[in-house]
Amino acid sequence: MASARVAIRTRWRACAEGVARSRIGIWDVFECLDTVERLQIIVPKPPGMLYVVATPIGNLEDLSPRAKRILEEADVVLAEDTRHSGRLLAELGLSKSLISLHEHNEARRVPQVLERLRRGDDVALVCDAGTPLISDPGYRLLSKVREAGLSAAPIPGPCAAVAALSVAGLASDRFVFEGFLPERPAPRQARLHGLSGDPRTLILYEAPHRIQAALGDMVQILGPQRQATLARELTKRFETVYHGTLEALAARVAEDVDARRGEIVIVVEGRTGSGPAGSDELERVLKVLMAELPLKQAVSLAVKLTGAPRNHAYRLAVDLSRDEDSPSEEDH
Ligand code: SAM
Repeated sequence: MASARVAIRTRWRACAEGVARSRIGIWDVFECLDTVERLQIIVPKPPGMLYVVATPIGNLEDLSPRAKRILEEADVVLAEDTRHSGRLLAELGLSKSLISLHEHNEARRVPQVLERLRRGDDVALVCDAGTPLISDPGYRLLSKVREAGLSAAPIPGPCAAVAALSVAGLASDRFVFEGFLPERPAPRQARLHGLSGDPRTLILYEAPHRIQAALGDMVQILGPQRQATLARELTKRFETVYHGTLEALAARVAEDVDARRGEIVIVVEGRTGSGPAGSDELERVLKVLMAELPLKQAVSLAVKLTGAPRNHAYRLAVDLSRDEDSPSEEDH
C-alpha cells in the first residue's frame, strides 16, 4: 500500500514538474495517466499512515527488511535524536527528511504530525534504539492519532525488555514491565514495596550509575533469595547475562565494575508462595501483632510469619506505631 502510494506520488510529481517546464497544459498530462492515477488526483488523497518502527538495540543486523523498506518509503522520519537516527539511516544507505520528536517537544510536534498524516503523508516514528514508546517518546502522539481516528501500524522488532526476558529463564507466561524505577531512594523503595507482592516476573530498566543502589533496595524489599537476571549490553560486543539470586547479583555488581557498565535490564522472579510477603500482607500481620505485643516482639514474629526482611519490617512497624500515636482529625 505504502509503495503504491509512493509510486503514484512520484509519477504525479514528475508530471507536475513536466508541466512547469514545458508548454504543455495540465490536461495533456492528465491524458497520459491511466485510470487509477487519474482517480488518485480527482479523489482526495487518503490520510497517511503512522508507522511505529523498532530499530536495533545494538546490532544493526536486527533491523528487519520491512523496517528498512518503511523507513525508505516514508515521507518523513520522526526521530528522538535526529543526529543519532541520521547515522542509522546513513548506514542503511538512506537519505531522509528527519524531524525531531522527543520528550521536550512532543506536545508541540503532535499537531504538525497530525496535519501531515491528514494530508496523506506516511510518517515513520523511531527512537534512539528499540521500540518507540517503551520508556521512550511517542505516547502522546499515538494517543492523539487514535483520538483523531487516524491509523498507526507497528513495525515490530527489538525491545530490550523482551530480549532480556527471552533469555532470563524465569516465568514468562505473565510479566510486568515497570520501565525505570524512580531515581531517588524513597520513591524507589516505595515503588518496590508496591511491587513486592506481585507474583508476575518483573522487568526493569536501570541506568549503570544507579544499578548498585537499585539492587540493594531490591534485596531489602523483594528479599535476597529471589531469582533474577541482569542482562547488559544485549546484542552488542560486551553482551553479558548474569543469573542468580538478587543477593548474588548485588554482590557481583558491587565487586565487578564491568557488571555495572553499559545498558542494563533486570528481570526478577515474581513473589512465590514461600517468598517474603508483599507490603500489604506484612502491614496486616504487623497491625494484628502490634495490637497485642511490644513492637520488637511483633516485628520478630511478623518476620517469621511472612519472610519479610527484618529491617524492612522494623521500619514499617515504627511508621505504623507513629501513625497510631499521631492524633487523627477525629480526635480534635
Ligand atoms: N525503547 C527501548 C526498548 O525498546 O528497549 C528502551 C529505551 S530506554 C530509554 C533505554 C534503556 O533500555 C536502557 O537504559 C537499558 O535499561 C535498556 N536497554 C536498551 N538497550 C539495551 C541493550 N542493548 N542491552 C540492555 N539493555 C538495554
